[in-house]
Amino acid sequence: MTKLRLAIVGAGPAGIYAADILLKYERAFDVSIDLFDQLPAPYGLVRYGVAPDHPRIKGIITALRDVLDRGDIRIFGNVRFGEDLSLADLKEHYNAVIFATGAVRDADLDIPGIDLPGSYGAADFVSWYDGHPDYPREWPLEAESIAVVGNGNVALDVARVLVKHPEDLMPTEIPANVEAGLKASPVTDVHVFGRRGPMQVKFTPLELRELGELRDVDMIVHDEDFDYDDASLAAIESNKQVFVINRTLQEWRTREVGQASRRLHLHWYAKPLEVVAGPDGRVAAFRYERTEPDGEGGVRGTGEVREVPVQAVYRAIGYFGSPLPGVPFDERHGVIPNHEGQALGDDDRIIPGVYATGWIKRGPVGLIGHTKSDAMETITHLVNDQASWWSPAHPEEDAIVRLLDERGVLWTDLEGWHRLDAHEVSLGEPQGRARVKVVPRDEMVRISRD
Ligand code: NAP
Repeated sequence: MTKLRLAIVGAGPAGIYAADILLKYERAFDVSIDLFDQLPAPYGLVRYGVAPDHPRIKGIITALRDVLDRGDIRIFGNVRFGEDLSLADLKEHYNAVIFATGAVRDADLDIPGIDLPGSYGAADFVSWYDGHPDYPREWPLEAESIAVVGNGNVALDVARVLVKHPEDLMPTEIPANVEAGLKASPVTDVHVFGRRGPMQVKFTPLELRELGELRDVDMIVHDEDFDYDDASLAAIESNKQVFVINRTLQEWRTREVGQASRRLHLHWYAKPLEVVAGPDGRVAAFRYERTEPDGEGGVRGTGEVREVPVQAVYRAIGYFGSPLPGVPFDERHGVIPNHEGQALGDDDRIIPGVYATGWIKRGPVGLIGHTKSDAMETITHLVNDQASWWSPAHPEEDAIVRLLDERGVLWTDLEGWHRLDAHEVSLGEPQGRARVKVVPRDEMVRISRD
């Protein structure tokens, strides 16, 4: 029987779902899947993107783990595509590759002052508080007032972690350096800015409501933002999520405030203009133009410029994909150009054997579960494209292991992940926490390969 030797690059939900769907797919050939990740541990953004105080979402790991533990997928962690392995290497060893590398860096916000000291990308901050091995251990939490730009769930995650009292994060898996950093933060006020109105936000009702439950944090909203236009009223009528968001915000408008030691301010109709520097060259204020609804869900500028004094700015205006060596990349959208998951070359012709799934396929939108339908589409093409698969010179399963070993790559496998996982759980036990993450890459690799 023919065998499909498949490489998947990226062991986050997109890659694992793709593997799972292929294994369950009705097909006339055998399958053998190798899953590569540049990190020594699997689960991608579930481990390194979901906020530590969102255990419900982190719980997706249980389902992903079940897939890996079935034993019919090999994992090769700590392998960097483009450095340790090239596309040419994959062609030598596999019939096809699926890239599931996601989108992990911050989209650019092109305004003056965005590169000032004290101005940060939300994705970098998330990587810090989630203990990503490739980010600095120290994060400068020195600001009393902070601006967060954007109205998606990442903006709310960042604002919540910044404003929450660190003791309330203690039951989570945050690493020791993050605990120390947050405890030292002098923050009192976090301001979240949306460029459109409260009924045009991208975040979801549950994530908004959670803010109102933070201990000793007042929610501050402003009456001027609630003079709804027809488009906003129509959205409340027609969309359940918008309806619930409105209900939550209306409740906050009537809440008594003034007792809490920290405040979370929500501002709308605020188009970013500039991150303003102080005499010391660091962030001193966030300047924006007040916008107004255009009646169709969009906004237009009013010419009124406002400024809020802050000592730090976090932009949370979306993630962006990164190019992969030897693989086509759409610079404008930050994705691998593709037709339903089949990678496309310059002339829009399908590139045989190269596929994409998840955020690197469709851009950084949608919840984790949405990657399943994405994977199904990609896998359907992969299965039907049998005639154009690559013909590798070394399809035997040992060959790739030999290659990595010859190159001195300290790859980690599923057993290694189990060892690291058990180690992290044991670190958490004495403190009554689910786990404490190991952060340094070399330590992760050492424990995994022990
Ligand atoms: P997002 O949902 O696309 O939100 C991006 C936000 O940035 C929007 O409010 C957008 O405003 C704003 N924005 C974009 N460009 C801007 C600019 N130049 N100036 C000012 N504002 C700008 O992105 P995300 O928050 O990064 O989230 C990515 C995906 O992950 C989403 O699907 C999200 O739901 C998901 N996620 C989910 C959770 C959770 O379930 N708890 C947590 C984190 C992430 P406009 O709408 O006006 O464009």
